[in-house]
Amino acid sequence: MNVDNTEVRQTYRNPLVEDLRRTGSCQVGQLELLLPQSFGFCWGVDRALAMVEEARREYEGRPMWLISSIIHNPRVNADLRAKGIGFLRGQFATPGALEQLGAEDVVIVPAFSATVEDMQDLQQRGVTIVDTTCPWVIKPHKRTLKYLKEGFTTVIHGTVGHEETAATCSLIESHGGHYVVVYSIEETEVLAAFLEGRLQEDDLRAGLRCGSFSPGLDFNRDLQRLGVINQTTMLASESRAIGDRLKLALAHRDGEEALEQNFRDFDTICRATQDNQDAAAAVAELAPDLYLVVGGYDSSNTKNLARVGRRLGVPAFHIEGPDCIGPQLVHRDRTSGEILHEAHWLPERRPLRVAFTAGASTPDALLGEVIERLLSFAGEKLPV
Ligand code: SF4
Repeated sequence: MNVDNTEVRQTYRNPLVEDLRRTGSCQVGQLELLLPQSFGFCWGVDRALAMVEEARREYEGRPMWLISSIIHNPRVNADLRAKGIGFLRGQFATPGALEQLGAEDVVIVPAFSATVEDMQDLQQRGVTIVDTTCPWVIKPHKRTLKYLKEGFTTVIHGTVGHEETAATCSLIESHGGHYVVVYSIEETEVLAAFLEGRLQEDDLRAGLRCGSFSPGLDFNRDLQRLGVINQTTMLASESRAIGDRLKLALAHRDGEEALEQNFRDFDTICRATQDNQDAAAAVAELAPDLYLVVGGYDSSNTKNLARVGRRLGVPAFHIEGPDCIGPQLVHRDRTSGEILHEAHWLPERRPLRVAFTAGASTPDALLGEVIERLLSFAGEKLPV
């Protein structure tokens, strides 16, 4: 499907970022600024926002709602609220709105999809549904249904509670299937130890997060045949490692020759996520003194971009916007998820090489503001 993203890109354009997108770097006083070849709004986000604008025109005058965020970026969601779009859930929800929805209402399903229960509820209420689900998000859905049909339990490399993973889990449950969600290679090790007979069921339950497995899953009966998929925005290298580790565990348990029968692995990382991670890694390899990764704190792909930098030994910080830059840097800790305030974060040496990247839900305008704030904080000025 072709997406006309002209209006969306125009709304969020930033001339400095446009220049840097073309050149990849520039020198401002004592600072060298670096940007990767791929960053920021992905095709799926462009498409979702373009569909919202189209729906606003088509259904002008009717109450319009988002189930929760359209994408994980506070700026973009605030812009939609300012345009009169209400929220049914989350921090900005209108109390009681969900229960009172009717035929007059228009409800937008976000880019990361919705649960089967939510879709059924909306259909029963007779609302007009504008479904902006990204086609890349449909890929793991299709794959998991294939696994189910062939008698596999799905292992999802994803985040419990993330809308996309919640939708995939609900799809599996609605078809009577089972799943296990693993967030990291560490959690996969716990599952692998159980498969290899080195861990008891109670320890496995304790080693996974709450909500990591389907209700009624029998760990002895339902983990015989496993099919792996990924939430589309996970760290690609970690997804590969998780698939390999589970394959090894099943080979250990049942023998190499049984893998054809009891193991499947399918890469469902989306192209934009992969491109942004590869490009972020290429810039990290230039060994910048500082790497600022801009995006909503809930944004899975942004969190993983920060991990790419850290894995390559670069001081990478996940920040949400320009207000995070000051005497203390406000950023999200990649391990604990806590929001930290860090003093003495800007290296004093000059010249200084600073790299930036942005998640798939981060508008250029926001990234541009971050770059400008950093320059001003470092005492440098863009040439007029
Ligand atoms: S990050 Fe990928 S899956 Fe998510 S909206 Fe963008 S293109 Fe679609």
